[in-house]
Amino acid sequence: MYRYETHLHTSPVSKCAKKTIGESLEFYASLGYDGVFLTNHFLDGNFYLRDADLPYAEKIELYCKDYEDGLPIAKKLGIKLFFGVELTYGGTDFLIYGLDKEWYLAHPEIMEMKKSEELPFLREQGALVIQAHPFRDSSYIDHIRLFPRCVDGVEILNSGRPAFENEMAELYAKKYGFPCLTAGSDNHRAGDCPLLAGMECETPLHSVADYIARVRAGSMRIFTIDRSKDVNQ
Ligand SMILES: [Zn+2]
Ligand SMILES: [Zn+2]
Repeated sequence: MYRYETHLHTSPVSKCAKKTIGESLEFYASLGYDGVFLTNHFLDGNFYLRDADLPYAEKIELYCKDYEDGLPIAKKLGIKLFFGVELTYGGTDFLIYGLDKEWYLAHPEIMEMKKSEELPFLREQGALVIQAHPFRDSSYIDHIRLFPRCVDGVEILNSGRPAFENEMAELYAKKYGFPCLTAGSDNHRAGDCPLLAGMECETPLHSVADYIARVRAGSMRIFTIDRSKDVNQ
């Protein structure tokens, strides 16, 4: 079975992440994963230079640095590194797969769009749009928002969230009949993350487009790994 992390943050690009891309790749390679999707917080979220007075293009270059730094490390470790993004709107998050750095460089207008315009636009452009942990509730989140007409699917299992929130996500996804259901760890700390979730398949993924096609076809399966006995929390 070939396993993939679909929701990963690294330092410094995600301000809240504790480990580098190198540490994260080493960790997933040590567990025998075939690949990871790097989904750092985008320019509208907890990107470490969000408030810096820099042009959009320069921010995109810096945003992509963890991914680009990771490519030779991944090659050396024999693990695949795929590019993704996590967009944010007031604590409501979306995982975006299938658009690359060149695409983001060419589309600065997304920064001016509201999410109900931006998400359909990204989908038109070929992206897979997944609402991450749709029922996450926390003191810094004013209210839960759902975008059923703007997404391909939802993350029905986020191993960093309580069971209740994941069960609500699954209920929501199933009642609305979303075709794309995913799982991920939202890992911000490489090997210090006690619970992992991801997607697996019987033949290796070749590209992000391959992943998107398989998620749309429902041919990827969800898996979880409980490492809580190995990790000092
Ligand atoms: Zn974060
Ligand atoms: Zn995340």
